[in-house]
Amino acid sequence: MFSALCRLLAGSLFLGIVLLVQTVQAGNPLPVSPKAVKRALAEIHARYQPDDSGKVADYIPALAKADPHHFGLALATADGRIFAVGDSDVPFAIESISKIFALALAFEDAGRKAILDNVGVYHTGLPFNSMIASDVRQVKLQNPFVNVGAITTTSFIKGRNSAEKWQRQMKTFNLFAGRRLTVNREVFDSEEATNQHNRALAWLFKSFGYLQDDPMDAITRYTRACSVNVTCKDLAVMGACLANGGLNPMTGKRAVRKEFVRDILSVMAITGLYDSSGPWFFHVGLPGKSGVGGGILAVVPGKFAVAAYSPPLDRFGNSVRGVKAVEALSKLWGLHVFEVK
Ligand code: GLU
Repeated sequence: MFSALCRLLAGSLFLGIVLLVQTVQAGNPLPVSPKAVKRALAEIHARYQPDDSGKVADYIPALAKADPHHFGLALATADGRIFAVGDSDVPFAIESISKIFALALAFEDAGRKAILDNVGVYHTGLPFNSMIASDVRQVKLQNPFVNVGAITTTSFIKGRNSAEKWQRQMKTFNLFAGRRLTVNREVFDSEEATNQHNRALAWLFKSFGYLQDDPMDAITRYTRACSVNVTCKDLAVMGACLANGGLNPMTGKRAVRKEFVRDILSVMAITGLYDSSGPWFFHVGLPGKSGVGGGILAVVPGKFAVAAYSPPLDRFGNSVRGVKAVEALSKLWGLHVFEVK
């Protein structure tokens, strides 16, 4: 009994030392004390909660059921700490933010060149679901975050069959989140029934020779990935993996190779917030990604990630409260990556 207790104490002491060494090696990722982080999140949350501008997405019918009052904020650090306020445990559909994690696996599976050659990293200046006839001349100027780019990216994920490809895709999502995520069946069915536009884009890209294998399989996996439920805390942890060079700071497991993290963050900086990526980067100065489910994620490389969830969207498709909250935090702590300190 006594020796078991000693072993337990020694074990905890060892773990404590390992965590301490990791923290010291990484340097303190927080710009202020943990207490001040909690205070800042609470203040910003209280400031924007009353803002009820924006509109919940309804072009995917199931998304329209989201509660417009929901508002959560979470921050996860590269050394494994998490801070959260508001509705940060409410599950919601990850939607477009899933494109980050499909891209991570496609980079792993197909390499950088395949993605650059077949999808590109252009700021398209076109809406996320574009690629209709009038845009055909832009065919080579896409990126992994417009729908057609993400569907093509998804088609590069390897596996002997569709089930194995999906299982590998989900495994990557889980590695990023540090837990088992699940698909929101209602959102998936709703999106599957209304995604004719995306199907047309997939076939078009198949005809151009960019999209691999069966376009309808890529569409199904893409749509399923968009329907994965996450919480604001999950998103913060997923972002913290990128802040931490691809290693999940909560589990110590690798989610993506370090060499691709810079690429992913670059795409987020170029085009993470649809057509307002320019103003976002100008004002916030961080690689970010939003989704029409109301989620938004921003990464401070080497330090931490901030996630917000609030369903009402601006005209570009970004969470109104989410954008305001992350911008406020960036200004408060001088997080813009071009800020000369
Ligand atoms: N699944 C959505 C679509 O394909 C993703 C849109 C988004 O969040 O931007 O329309």
